[in-house]
Amino acid sequence: MSKDYHELDEKYNQEDPRAFRKERKRIQAKDRSKYKKTDQEKRKNESTVINGKRGRVLGISKVSIDVDIAGQVTSCNLKGSLKKEKTNQKNLITVGDYVLIDERGQIAHIEERFSYLARAANLDRRKQQLIAANIDQVLITASYQAPTLKPSLLDRYIIAAQKGNMQPIIVINKIDLCKDKTLIDELCKIYKQANIPLLTVSALTKEGITDLKKIMRKKTSVFSGQSGVGKTSLINEVTGRKDKIGPIIQKTQKGAHTTTSATLIPLDKTGFCVDTPGIKSFGLWDISSNDLSNYFYDLLEFAPLCKFMNCTHIHEPDCAVKKAVEEGKLSKIRYESYLNIHEGYE
Ligand code: GDP
Ligand code: ZN
Repeated sequence: MSKDYHELDEKYNQEDPRAFRKERKRIQAKDRSKYKKTDQEKRKNESTVINGKRGRVLGISKVSIDVDIAGQVTSCNLKGSLKKEKTNQKNLITVGDYVLIDERGQIAHIEERFSYLARAANLDRRKQQLIAANIDQVLITASYQAPTLKPSLLDRYIIAAQKGNMQPIIVINKIDLCKDKTLIDELCKIYKQANIPLLTVSALTKEGITDLKKIMRKKTSVFSGQSGVGKTSLINEVTGRKDKIGPIIQKTQKGAHTTTSATLIPLDKTGFCVDTPGIKSFGLWDISSNDLSNYFYDLLEFAPLCKFMNCTHIHEPDCAVKKAVEEGKLSKIRYESYLNIHEGYE
């Protein structure tokens, strides 16, 4: 995998990336199993509260936990008995968690998460540090130019979002720099077939911002994408926040007490946006060849016609996939994206 995807991982796992990847794979395989069938049920059950108040964690500081309870922000503490629970996560509670507050104003229960973003904890690699939880959708952000749009990067983020149980949505920013819409039109076609929404926007001219706000309504979203594509600018647009744009250089303290500064920003009471200052890109999980073939289903429609049953569609003769690309039956962009991602894990 190229550098961009692992900005985050690299930062925290420079010493032993191989061991880290192996461990991450193991944890994710375990975590994924719980996503499978009961997801919808879980979401439904979680909204039925018997006693106490239900809230959502907006931010966590050393001294208190800010919880949104029906639109009101309340400072809460974690109930002592909760602290004794053992998990493979370093932090018990994270931004985005749904919680139950008891009559004393303490967080008495943390609901099961249907999705989360995490990174390996610094000191103990067997543990993960949660960054945010219960995220519905990843706004996979790219820019038309500066940095140049790379379709294969979109596909990597899509696969990662889907693996993490989050809906991928493509946001192509800096559309003001686009003179020729050929590539955009082709991408629209490709992702429409895959049922993945694609928006073209400009934080500069505000083109498409209304649509972006609309798609974020009633959802919890996180912007993800390479550095420089305009994530900060877009968050400012959708939240109305005025923040400094440009690279934020954040010194990370080494050690067990490193805190994440992620927050959940309410969007006019109709959704939330995760803000993770200093973290430019989320670690994208390893993509196995099995994930690849599930994702590139359009490409693999042609595979049964290849000469070799185990054809990788890269260097083999009489490959039906390559032939389909030559004959224009399959998008060259899709094939190149496949090649690019395939290279990454070989
Ligand atoms: P981030 O690293 O993804 O958070 O990106 P930033 O929001 O910091 O933006 C990176 C640079 O791109 C800044 O110089 C912005 O002014 C610029 N930028 C952001 N959005 C747009 C846009 O829609 N059009 C143009 N032309 N520039 C933009
Ligand atoms: Zn083939």
